[in-house]
Amino acid sequence: MSPKKKTPSAKLVKGMKDIVPAEQLIWDFVREKVKSAARDYGFTRIDTPIVEFTQLFKKSTGEDTDVVSKEMYSFVDQGGDRLSLRPETTPSVVRAYIEHGMLNQPQPVKMFYIGPQFRHDKPQAGRYRQFWQFGFEAIGDVDPIIDAQMIVMNYDILQDLGLDTEVQINSIGDKSCRPKYLKALTQYYKDKKKDLCADCTKRLVKNPLRLLDCKVKGCQELAAVAPQMIDYLCEECNKHFTAVLEYLDEAEVKYNLNPKIVRGLDYYTRTAWEIVEANEEGKLQALGGGGRYDELVGLLGGRGDTPAVGFAMGMERIINKMKEKQVELPAPRRSDVYIAQLGAEARRKGLKLLMELRRGGLTVSEDLSKNGLKGQLELADKKCARYALILGQKEIVDETILIRDMESGVQETVDYKKVVKEVHKRLASQLTEKCLKIKKMKKS
Ligand code: AMP
Repeated sequence: MSPKKKTPSAKLVKGMKDIVPAEQLIWDFVREKVKSAARDYGFTRIDTPIVEFTQLFKKSTGEDTDVVSKEMYSFVDQGGDRLSLRPETTPSVVRAYIEHGMLNQPQPVKMFYIGPQFRHDKPQAGRYRQFWQFGFEAIGDVDPIIDAQMIVMNYDILQDLGLDTEVQINSIGDKSCRPKYLKALTQYYKDKKKDLCADCTKRLVKNPLRLLDCKVKGCQELAAVAPQMIDYLCEECNKHFTAVLEYLDEAEVKYNLNPKIVRGLDYYTRTAWEIVEANEEGKLQALGGGGRYDELVGLLGGRGDTPAVGFAMGMERIINKMKEKQVELPAPRRSDVYIAQLGAEARRKGLKLLMELRRGGLTVSEDLSKNGLKGQLELADKKCARYALILGQKEIVDETILIRDMESGVQETVDYKKVVKEVHKRLASQLTEKCLKIKKMKKS
């Protein structure tokens, strides 16, 4: 660290983002949809540490990728180990698959994750240095139906979140056919070096596939007429890709063949896809993507012929899109009861009552530090509580409590010991009334 650099104590680190309480409703909504899709499609959650050996990412994501060579947060810890904050989670999931001997479970092993990733990228709108991804991985099955299932699920989750997205798909072949293609690609660019951006000049030597997804205009023009991998696929890769597309047709998931989808990371083989959405100016923006990675398990020391496929989605981008489209969210759950207390004795009892009500299965709200009934009832109203439980001096002496219906204003005194039961009784009869009303409306 430069000795001159000042470190302010109460300032957010550049490129990072707080997810403040007001935003949690939309974040929870996304997390819940992801979890419910995982349950429905048979995926189990895995949580891996945020910190891994740097070598894991160098070996899997690839030493020459931007993510590893330019953007990783790496450090040497007190014990001398070279560690990195994960820039993506697939390598960690594969490491866990190998280390926990998941090879011995029924294949494919289907796992999903939700968690923060770290890349020292240039911060800009929708691009952070800590950002969240959810991702799904199916390890141990080569059948093209698994690729199609992943794409269908990926598409389905975004539909569930109110986003009408498009699948862009390509095949980037495997080690038997890709070298021939890379040779043709390098040959094509040979006399065009002077027209490439500085990054692409390097990519031409280290990672020529990446020339195809460069964002610089001049490079894009050259990429548009470059040779395409699809024309170089070997018979096996071709068969695999055709089958994936047929399954997608059958599932009626619309897709576009896009020869420029190569994904930025080294380990992809065969199917590669991105899910895109048009932004306000009509420009397509990737919300995430995925692909097959049939060689990664072997590369990291697992059994050599363990195929796999997975995808990762950027949660900030998805949430920004949802906000842009004003996707309707379910109303936050209103509380069943609000505790209003008057006097020191009632306040003391209030704390225990709060615990008892919660244990009795009720959602509770309160402002135990406040005085005055009027103010507390106003707060109960603001918090949309269904009932207020009023505990004053008289109730303490009589061992009772007042239940006030916050909609009608009707109050009733009940035995303090029976309060949980009494609230549940009222909530249940309210539900029946609501149900009868709906039935009546449907009939008329
Ligand atoms: P990748 O792992 O690079 O394939 O990225 C998958 C998705 O993660 C992208 O399409 C973005 O939605 C999201 N993503 C990647 N990098 C960032 C970042 N720096 N900030 C926010 N989201 C990101």
